[in-house]
Formats: sequence, C-alpha cells, structure tokens
Amino acid sequence: MKYIPIIGLEVHVELATESKMFCNCPAEHFGVEPNTHTCPVCLGLPGALPVPNKKALEWTIMLSQALGCKINLESHFDRKNYFYPDLPKGYQITQYERPFGENGGVSLKNQESGIKKIRIRRVHLEEDTGKLQHAEINGESVSLVDFNRSGVPLVEIVTEPDFRSIEEVDEYLKKLQKIIRYLGISNADMEKGSMRIEPSVSIAPISNFKFKTPNLPNYRVELKNINSFRFARKAIDYEIKRQTELLEKGDKIIQQTRGWDDIRNVTVPQREKEKAHDYRYFPEPDIPPIELTGEQVSGIKYQGELPDEKFARFQKDYGLSDYDAGILTENRETADYYEAAVKAANVLVGADREIPLKLWRKMIANQIINKKVNTAETVPAELVKKIVESKKTSEVDEEKLDAAVNEVLNNNSEVVASFKNGKTGVIGFLIGSVKRIVPADPRLIEEKLRKKL
Ligand code: ADP
Ligand code: ZN
Ligand code: MG
Repeated sequence: MKYIPIIGLEVHVELATESKMFCNCPAEHFGVEPNTHTCPVCLGLPGALPVPNKKALEWTIMLSQALGCKINLESHFDRKNYFYPDLPKGYQITQYERPFGENGGVSLKNQESGIKKIRIRRVHLEEDTGKLQHAEINGESVSLVDFNRSGVPLVEIVTEPDFRSIEEVDEYLKKLQKIIRYLGISNADMEKGSMRIEPSVSIAPISNFKFKTPNLPNYRVELKNINSFRFARKAIDYEIKRQTELLEKGDKIIQQTRGWDDIRNVTVPQREKEKAHDYRYFPEPDIPPIELTGEQVSGIKYQGELPDEKFARFQKDYGLSDYDAGILTENRETADYYEAAVKAANVLVGADREIPLKLWRKMIANQIINKKVNTAETVPAELVKKIVESKKTSEVDEEKLDAAVNEVLNNNSEVVASFKNGKTGVIGFLIGSVKRIVPADPRLIEEKLRKKL
C-alpha cells in the first residue's frame, strides 16, 4: 500500500532583544560564561516579579502579521506547570488560551496547483528555559545548569499538519527564516539554537485522501534534537520509512517523542506522550492581561517589503529571472546593494549609454551572484565602474574572438557539414576549439558560432 506523509511543525525562535523577557538581564547567552546573566527574576527566586519586555511583544505581533495572522486584541500570559531542573520557577510563562497571533498562512510553490498554503495555527510568546549540560567531572557523571538562557524571549510558531513532503517542509523553513531575518527580530540560526524545529510526523494510506478533508491518523511522532535543515530532512525521512515498515508489518504506531541521533542517523524513543499531559495551565497572575487597539496593532506592522514582495518587484522592475531575483532577495543587504548599484549605473552611464539599461541590470546581477565582487568592500558605484572597465577590455577581445571563430570554422569543414546535416551536438566540439584559442565565455562563443553557422 502507498502511504502519504503528514507533517506539522512547531518552530521556536529566540528574539534578538537586548534584555530578557521579564527582567533586565542581557538576553545574549551564546558563548557567554555560564550563570553570569542572571537575577532573582530569571532564577525564579521567591518574591521576584516579572515585567514583560515591550519590544518582545511588538516583535511577536509584527511577525504574526507578516505571517498573515489575525491579532488578538486581548491576550494574556499563562503558566505552564511542570518540573524540570532547567526551569527554576517550576512553571514556564507562555501563552495558551490567547496567543498574540492566530490563523495565518504561508504560501509555498506547488508543482500541481502553482501555490500551496500552509496554515499557521498560532504564534505565541514565551520564555526560554535554562540549558542543561551533561558532563563528566573527576570521573563522575554530572548535569550542569546554565541559567543565562532562562527567560530569553522565545516565539513559537505552530502550523497545521499541512505538509505532505520533506521538500515542502524545507521550503517553509527557509521561507520562515528569511521572513524573520527580514524583520530583523532574530538571527534565526539553527546551529546556534536561535531557531529550533520540532516536526510531528505521521503517515496515512493514500485512500484517506479521496476527499478534500483527509482523515488524519490519530497519532503523531514528535521529533526533537534537530539543529540544522539537513538533520530535519534526514530525521523526517527516517521517520517516514520507519513508520511505513511498521504499518506494512501490520504493527501499530504509537504516539511518542523521538530524538534525532545524528551519529547513528536514526530517531530514538525519548518518551511516550501521555495523551493528557497535565500542565495545569492557568492565567499568569503577576502580569495583567494585554489589551491593544487596532491602531496600535497597525502601528506595529513591518513597514518594509517582505521577501515575496521584494522578489516580485525585482522581477518586474529589473526584468530578472526567477533564479537571479531569488538570490538577490535572499537577504535585505544583498537586495539593497543591488538596487544601489542599479541606481549608480543610471547616474554613471548617463543618457548617452551604449549598453541598454536592461543589460546593465543583468550584468550587475551576474557580478553579485557569481561573487566576482566582495560586496562588503566594494561600494555599489565602484562595482559599476569595474564593470565599465572590464567591458572595455572584453571589447578588445571581441576582435580576437571573431578571428578565432572564423579560424575554427575554416579548419573544421567536416564538422561544420555534419552540423548543417542536423548533428547539432558537434557544436560542443567547436566551442571547445574556439575556447582553446580565446578563453571567452562559452555562451558568447556559442552565440557567435551559431550566427555564422
Ligand atoms: P496538541 O497536542 O499540542 O494539542 P496537536 O497535536 O493538534 O496539538 O498539534 C501539535 C503539532 O502536531 C502541530 O504542529 C500539528 O500540525 C501537528 N500534528 C497534529 N496532528 C498531526 C498528525 N496526525 N500528523 C502529523 N502532525 C500532526
Ligand atoms: Zn534576569
Ligand atoms: Mg510547545
């Protein structure tokens, strides 16, 4: 039987605020000496009171809007109670009933329908936990706790189980990361743990998909300990295969949490998730509910272009291909650099330009994409000047190139004849022969050869 994978994602992102979520400690914790960024609030000492970080609230609302969510004008924090050594208060302050954002969506490219929407169930704000480290000291196995991360603002973005392939998951994650980086609210580095993903995976027989709303399996396997895009793909792939084998043997798949073991390349059981894990959620009594007006919410909207909008405009305004526009809008810095260079070309080349503007745009794109230029060191106008100069030298080469093309065509009359008889593949041989005389761009050589042929 054929099975279809069903995947939902929970993504955690650490916000790049100066201070922590509920106290004044610096939020930076990567590579910092353990337990130096702490205070009574983030150590959970009795009597300490939390004060929410305004910036973290605003950024969560900004992200929610960028992800197309409806913003709850009335929201509040809740306590999620559980015991674990990295959680000093014995509860985590999070949002349960009333997240800031709900019911959004992200569009992916889909081969059949052109576009596929992944529904976002919720976007909420919470605090990070401390970090446990298991080590051996004087031959003794110990667990160490670092509370520098305790209380760092963390946004959780939860999707519906709408993914049907690893490629879709990959596209979504990259897109989400790009949006977060555009907003400038986190570096969203998976390797540093600033972006952490927990995919839930199940599989269903293809017959479940006859109708528009498919029957989803009543279990899910949640995957943890994934710290790169590559591991995400591998872990999901492994999990789909493992579950398929079980079903084919006639076994039942149990709902559980499994961790990715990146040494053995397998997922291993971590804990069986009891259906009703009782976190005893209740509204956080130390923080008043948050009430917003519609005006405040629109005031927090990201004012710049989002990646999709920029991509579309780059194609439209500059006549760039999918590929070029994609790379140039990968991050805001590259996009800004490109636009500054195009502006500089307009000015420098002036009205009596020989090269059409459209070609300029393409040449500038090529220089940046092929990394022929160090954008950190070369200002955009400098890049344009460099192109003008290289253009001059390549014009001299043009004469040599024409001569080489003629020479090759004259010396290979048999090859030329077979080309004209339809064996067009021999053009490769001719291009190679010309290139040995003049090391020019093969595409340019081919163009010249075809013209003459
Ligand atoms: P919770 O258990 O926290 O109440 P859900 O189980 O509905 O919530 O969803 C948690 C995550 O698991 C979401 O990302 C959701 O998309 C995903 N999920 C839910 N059901 C399935 C399923 N059958 N297969 C795969 N993922 C699922
Ligand atoms: Zn603190
Ligand atoms: Mg959660």
